[in-house]
Amino acid sequence: MKLHTKIAIGLVAGGLVGGLCNRFYADAGWLTFVSDNVAYPVGQIFLRLLFMTVVPIVFTSIAVGVAGIGDMKTLGRLGGRTIGYFGLSTLMAAVIGLTLVNTIKPGAGLPPGTRDELMARFASGAQGLAQSGAQEFGINTFVNIVPRNPVAAAANMEMLALIFFSLIFGAALTMIPREKAQPVIAVLEGIGEAVIAIINMAMKLAPYGVFALIFVITSQFGWGILQQLSMYVVVVLLGLILHATVGISFLVKVFGRMSPKKFWKGIEAPIITAFSTSSSMATLPTSIATAETELGVQPKIAGFVLPLGATMNMNGTSLFEGVTVLFLAQVFGVELSLGSQIIVVVLSVLTAIGAAGVPGGSLPLMMLVMATVGVPPEGIAIILGVDRILDMTRTTLNVSGDISAAVYIDRVDREMEGMAPAVVAGDR
Ligand code: ASP
Repeated sequence: MKLHTKIAIGLVAGGLVGGLCNRFYADAGWLTFVSDNVAYPVGQIFLRLLFMTVVPIVFTSIAVGVAGIGDMKTLGRLGGRTIGYFGLSTLMAAVIGLTLVNTIKPGAGLPPGTRDELMARFASGAQGLAQSGAQEFGINTFVNIVPRNPVAAAANMEMLALIFFSLIFGAALTMIPREKAQPVIAVLEGIGEAVIAIINMAMKLAPYGVFALIFVITSQFGWGILQQLSMYVVVVLLGLILHATVGISFLVKVFGRMSPKKFWKGIEAPIITAFSTSSSMATLPTSIATAETELGVQPKIAGFVLPLGATMNMNGTSLFEGVTVLFLAQVFGVELSLGSQIIVVVLSVLTAIGAAGVPGGSLPLMMLVMATVGVPPEGIAIILGVDRILDMTRTTLNVSGDISAAVYIDRVDREMEGMAPAVVAGDR
């Protein structure tokens, strides 16, 4: 049986068992005990095993990728297109979300009683987020992309800073004599392969880890809150599905010149991983491996585009942010003019770039967007209860968007180099 089939079984089984436990034993002491002391640690250890590999894989794959791309001119061209594609796909997603939320207006129908009840119930969660959101988002966000100390950046998981250093390091390797650069590249490739071996070991645990992660969520999850917020949840999910089936599929066809059907079929493994971990970063190793083996993307391109994507390109997140800010504006009766809505789109795109690719990474930044357009940021409490489910789905789209970017950049690079088009695994 294929590993990702096993993971999918873990996912469904975890959801079913957790859901049934919640249905019949919601208040039982043993359920909380099992969830806190068995399922939670198993799930977290699995996630940590993946996170553990993120720093080395980002550094080695970008440095080797950039050194492999070779000259600065090609790098500039590919890099420019990568960023352009990220911007375009993220913007598309935000616009789809905003159009839907303005049409369906899920916030207008939320009874004030439900609003106040949810605000009270999740107030402490919102406060915690507000504190972590104290990390400002402004000009320093850009200054900080250049690390003072790359080791500190890596230690604090400041991904943009780590990426910046890795890019410069890879570029520098192309500027020194070949006989000096070659051994360094060989070592980095070796480290990269060892890290992949670690990931393969960790992924053997994935079916159990995923079962545990999903069990923790569903066993605590009240279906009641899903009902209360059903219109909002439907709008987010509808937006995500639309962006996947229409938006990303269109981009894959037009920019990547690949059949969307083959694309979606090929990326099953990262889709399942993203859905169960809610983290683009934790999914990064699987995305790189899948892009190379299933979609035929060259390793240098996957190694360059995907770490950038996992950090900067979050289609699902920007759609989610746009919908949520507008939904909460509707709930609080805040009228947002067209100008304010454009600000929401722009900030959703920017904060999606700044958000960390970890579970709930975008929430603190979204509170800043809310505050900027005059929606009370503590109102985020209203949606916290359903965020886990939405996080799973938006992360899936974030990762799909990243891989679609790799397909596009690979196609461009092959054309520039006069190579034959990539061959998808199904066609081999
Ligand atoms: N969990 C998302 C990701 O890793 C980020 C977010 O929207 O919270 O891609």
